Amino acid sequence: MITTKLPRPGRGPHPAHPHAVGPNAPHTPLRPMWCCRADGQPWPCAEARLLLRAEFDRNLAGLTIYLAGLMYEAIRDLYHLNPHDGPEPKALFDRFVGWTRRGRNAGRDVIGE
Ligand SMILES: [Zn+2]
Repeated sequence: MITTKLPRPGRGPHPAHPHAVGPNAPHTPLRPMWCCRADGQPWPCAEARLLLRAEFDRNLAGLTIYLAGLMYEAIRDLYHLNPHDGPEPKALFDRFVGWTRRGRNAGRDVIGE
């Protein structure tokens, strides 16, 4: 039988956006988007920060050096993904390294004060 009725298209493939995969997923970065593998938040998420803080207990310099290396990798990935409207360098510094500062000036930019 010949018909002029076209088949109705399906819903298409499932979107492959980052999404939470359950409570057992590690809070590690999903590259190249640098979002958390477990909760989809920008990495390092709050849980990852707690875990990093515990892992690098009494080694703030080591934590800062480790995160600075990851920040470098993230800058390369994120600007490659979005070269015209990527995150500002200061925002990435605050996200990756700035939160590690302790004491009175933690989280504030003290340059020029
Ligand atoms: Zn997370």
